[in-house]
Amino acid sequence: MSSDMLEAEITQERKLITEIPGPRSQEIHERRKKVVPPGVHTVFPVYIERAHDSIVVDVDGNQLIDVCGGIGVTTIGHTDEAVVEAAREQLGKVTHTLFTMNAYEPYVRVAELLAEHAPGQGDYKTLLMNSGAEAVENGVKIARKHTGRPGVAVLEHAYHGRTMLTSSMNHKGSPYALGYGPRAGDIYRAPNSHPLHDGLTGAEAAKRTINHLEKTAGAADLACLIVEPVQGEGGFVVPADGYLPALAAWCKENGIVFIADEVQAGMARTGKMFAIEHFGVEPDIILTAKGIAGGLPLSGITGRAEIMDKSLPGGLGGTFGGNPVSCAAAVAVFEQIEKLDLLAEGQRIGKTFGDGLRQLQSEFDCIAEVRGFGAMLAIEITKPGTLEPDAERVSAIIDYAGKNGVILLSAGLYGEAIRFLPSLKMTDELLLDVVSVLREALTATA
Ligand SMILES: *Cc1c(COP(=O)(O)O)cnc(C)c1O
Repeated sequence: MSSDMLEAEITQERKLITEIPGPRSQEIHERRKKVVPPGVHTVFPVYIERAHDSIVVDVDGNQLIDVCGGIGVTTIGHTDEAVVEAAREQLGKVTHTLFTMNAYEPYVRVAELLAEHAPGQGDYKTLLMNSGAEAVENGVKIARKHTGRPGVAVLEHAYHGRTMLTSSMNHKGSPYALGYGPRAGDIYRAPNSHPLHDGLTGAEAAKRTINHLEKTAGAADLACLIVEPVQGEGGFVVPADGYLPALAAWCKENGIVFIADEVQAGMARTGKMFAIEHFGVEPDIILTAKGIAGGLPLSGITGRAEIMDKSLPGGLGGTFGGNPVSCAAAVAVFEQIEKLDLLAEGQRIGKTFGDGLRQLQSEFDCIAEVRGFGAMLAIEITKPGTLEPDAERVSAIIDYAGKNGVILLSAGLYGEAIRFLPSLKMTDELLLDVVSVLREALTATA
């Protein structure tokens, strides 16, 4: 079957033919319970058979609108034609040699593309790994090697992964670190900028963060400060203007490596290639993963050459890091972003969908804030007239939407936000359909 035929079968519309989850999904879910541990929790137990652009088709034949995209991975849409073609072709040529044993060109091409797009002056070099958490781990390793210092500064509401180091870096100890200790040392967590809740200007919030780090860690012990320009898991928190530039300037003065964790917000998600560009900051290291290879596992650690060059030969890498098929897919992702002008599409989505969400905010007093950029938007749900989180209502809204064929996901330290990660190809028609389902859900849960 050609890819054209597969694609032709999936129309870009919501279509339900059974209840959700349907009987076949439920049957597989029962099998799964015997062989997959509950720690690998599935938020929405619908089993997906096929997908294209913004629509996923489950094993019962229901078509759902995917506003989660595997948490911001299928940024340029499911089964993008060029990505599928590039991966298929590479798969038939060579699947693995191990880049640190025998090399191949697609790895070099991805590194060139990341260097080209890195928002900073000078030369950038890239190490490729498999996952976001591995990108964070390696960012920390590289910063420590460069500075000769141990300390890692992170922010409140941060999320950086589920490996041993990164689970200690997350704000949420439960469920990510609870019971898996001892937790990693030399991690210092500072207050972030969360304008809705702290009411501080960027300058005030930066002062608070810096004071905290100077008192708890001491700048001279810090190897790096790692920030998500728009916090993902933390609830799509957008820092106040001036916050990130002030932190970057402080890092520069004190020889601390400024790392932008762009794992969720990067790769055209926010209407710019990297979210940090919204704030005019040039990070020392940029971490990418989720959206970089259209769904194939790949992550990048892209940093200033003088920082990246400190490691000894063999000090960096991993068996599967920068797999050729993933690299070929990533090259296609970069090409599609340019060819289809997906940065502009991100801005279109920010407008159409953002306007729709702001309209809902004017109708429902439980929506305390609409925030984010481009195709990375969230609403915060509170008890009406307060800033008290209402996680129960968030769950009820997501449940209602799921049963009606719209896949949504929560976020936030207290489960207070609903995050939207549509593909950059999602049509205005589908975006407005999502808004109308949300309106029904908000009404039904009032
Ligand atoms: C998802 C995420 C990670 C971890 O990525 P994995 O691929 O799940 O290991 C790290 N940082 C941020 C900001 C993320 O959103």
